[in-house]
Amino acid sequence: MTVRTRFAPSPTGFLHIGGVRTALFNWLFARSQGGQFILRIDDTDQSRNVEEAVRLILDGFRWIGIDWDEGPEVGGPVGPYFQSQRGDLYQRALHHLLDQGLVYKDFSTEDERAADKAAAEARKQPYRFRRKPIDPATLAQFEAEGRPYALRFKVPLGRTLVLEDRIKGRVEQRTDDLSDFVVARPDGSPLYNFASAVDDLEMGITHVIRAEEHLTNTFSQLLIFEALRGERPMPSFAHVPFVAKPGSKVKLSKRDGAVGLDFYIEAGYLPEAMMNYLARLGWSFDDKQEIFSRAELIEKFTLERVNSSPASHDPDKLFWIQGEWMRTLSLEAKRNGVLPYLQRAGLISEPPTLDDLTRLDRVILALQDRLKVFSDILKLGRFFFEPIERFTIDPEAGKKRLRKEFAATLLEALDDLLATTEPFDEATLEKAVHDLSEARGLKIGDVVNTLRVAVTGQGIGPGLYDCLTILGREGCRQRLAKARQWVAS
Ligand code: GLU
Repeated sequence: MTVRTRFAPSPTGFLHIGGVRTALFNWLFARSQGGQFILRIDDTDQSRNVEEAVRLILDGFRWIGIDWDEGPEVGGPVGPYFQSQRGDLYQRALHHLLDQGLVYKDFSTEDERAADKAAAEARKQPYRFRRKPIDPATLAQFEAEGRPYALRFKVPLGRTLVLEDRIKGRVEQRTDDLSDFVVARPDGSPLYNFASAVDDLEMGITHVIRAEEHLTNTFSQLLIFEALRGERPMPSFAHVPFVAKPGSKVKLSKRDGAVGLDFYIEAGYLPEAMMNYLARLGWSFDDKQEIFSRAELIEKFTLERVNSSPASHDPDKLFWIQGEWMRTLSLEAKRNGVLPYLQRAGLISEPPTLDDLTRLDRVILALQDRLKVFSDILKLGRFFFEPIERFTIDPEAGKKRLRKEFAATLLEALDDLLATTEPFDEATLEKAVHDLSEARGLKIGDVVNTLRVAVTGQGIGPGLYDCLTILGREGCRQRLAKARQWVAS
């Protein structure tokens, strides 16, 4: 049997990292078994921006490196892969169920259902929708009038449905506790539980791996499978626990911020790091290994080692994993990663000049491991590329370092030092700064930090002597002159 898994997102216009993790588990499982991963778009609730929402999903998957064997853009033998285009299939299945007497027309109105619900509550009983007897003449009359009806599945009573979930273990459900559920609305459009089961069956899905919020739906779907599958095998099910907010057991929601994949793409995280992090969110190999390449994940992933309780999103851990992956990049890869940020900020032209690129490489080398995500280039190294007219002093850093009583005279001496130190290289500058601090009886830290803020405008960044040589003698002196004005103002 070839393993076939699927991810079936509803195109909401938002790609939650929890959803990406579910897709990743499906993909890893399929790849680890030499199987196929299918992408199906659950767009029965048609909204206006489906196209854009689908693009967000596809772009997100492409970015992180999840490829799909069948689905949008690539097609496949059991398409279409958009539920909105599978109407004929659903209608055929509905007719079959009607013919078998497994679904029935429900002419009830919302008011009637509300009254039944209230009555059940008054009796302190749970409300379950059940078919009410209707005589053939009334039924014929309703049909002749063209009254709207929903189609409901007639749940067989007195049974216990058993699910051997690959993550959650054995779960049981008494059918008496299930309502006769709607499979198609009055306009004929299918509902999720019905359409999903039809698709999983028609697409030959062998393993349904999805969010645990669907666990209760699975029992309705099992009944649909049972009614339609004939000789076809049942899929296995694996329900993945939700991703919780940092340090909690509460589900991480869109409102918590930094939850969409696009946030991490924009911040300049590496896809390798994101995949690594999401795979470890609720899955472990041996409780020790943290860093996994894509190939290693495929080799080592098993459903058995997916935790059955929620894992908390841990941005610090993601940041750490990101740092580990960043460290493996070549200078060229880092350059390609940061360049678009500088270009979008208008700090480097498109295409870049040779001078820009030389400077950029020096900045990247000077930043070393401080560059954790690509957008850090703007936080840590923007001043290298900003023209002198745009040079500003970070108020916090200025207050801390340039408001000391010795600042004005020290800056004057430092300007002298910058003007005269020869050659203008790291070692010579370092020695000159040390000599100056000794001669003036100032702490080296005070001198270094004053000079750093005066020439870079900020308290953080690469090592001071790298900053000085990259900016060059004139660049440093121009900035220092501005810092002296700032001190005097
Ligand atoms: N469209 C459903 C969702 O996004 C699919 C659930 C499933 O995988 O069956 O939650």
